[in-house]
Amino acid sequence: MSDFKNKTVIITGAAMGLGLAVAEELASKGANLTLVDYNEEALTKAKNELASKYPDAKYLTVTADVSNEEAVKNYVNATVSEFGKIDGFYNNAGIEGRQAPMTEYDINMFKKVVDINLMGVYYGMRYVIPEMQKNKTGRIVNVASVGGIRGVLNQSAYVATKHAVAGMSKNAALEYGRDGILTNAIAPGAIKTPMVAEAFKQVNPENPQAAEDEYASRNPTKRLGKPSEVAKLVTFLLSEDNGYVSGQVIAIDGGESNIY
Ligand code: NAD
Repeated sequence: MSDFKNKTVIITGAAMGLGLAVAEELASKGANLTLVDYNEEALTKAKNELASKYPDAKYLTVTADVSNEEAVKNYVNATVSEFGKIDGFYNNAGIEGRQAPMTEYDINMFKKVVDINLMGVYYGMRYVIPEMQKNKTGRIVNVASVGGIRGVLNQSAYVATKHAVAGMSKNAALEYGRDGILTNAIAPGAIKTPMVAEAFKQVNPENPQAAEDEYASRNPTKRLGKPSEVAKLVTFLLSEDNGYVSGQVIAIDGGESNIY
């Protein structure tokens, strides 16, 4: 796969989970990375570990809440000041919210999920795309979910926002393909990250491992996905090896979303 020397990629939600896995994969390929997260302590720790493991990559960290439009403008401007351009954007930061049936869902939590998962992804594209247009090239990967393709019990806010991410990705592909910008969404199933560990705690507070085992047994592969497996797919989509895949919502779920 093409390397990422002199390629600049912004990753949101980079301090842990899927964001950190993609950061690691791109750092191993020598990228210039802007790592964005609102958890400053975890972000600093992640950056220090990456820098000691992959000293050939370059790093900029920006503490930002992606639901804050000014903070998004700031991480985009800081990236251009530091590295001169933006080649790739992994628009990943998101939250699950709380699990509850739709009529009992806490309305403030619903709005928070919309602010982060929907508005945060929109602001990111809103301010990154004009920078990519200047260079007539770019690759964007937004993070939807299997919950962006199907319903998921007790997760109406999450499902609503992830369907929105899938839709916005299709629109960006239509509107900016002429500028050499390819936009896709990925739709992960259950991948072993801190977010998913928290979800299993909500399903079975006494025995989260039992909830995980039960979930894994329903997957055709009988296991959860690994963050490194998602990182390989995202790295391809962000690379120049991807010349013509755009506007797609690509499931990475061991085939689970095909079960009827
Ligand atoms: P995670 O909770 O393990 O990590 C998310 C990271 O994003 C954290 O570092 C967190 O601090 C950061 N973050 C959250 N909200 C933020 C905000 N408003 N501003 C800045 N940073 C913020 O989650 P993960 O499992 O790595 O999930 C990453 C993305 O993948 C999310 O959009 C999630 O919905 C999606 N996803 C994950 C799975 C899965 O199985 N893990 C499945 C489908 C979709």
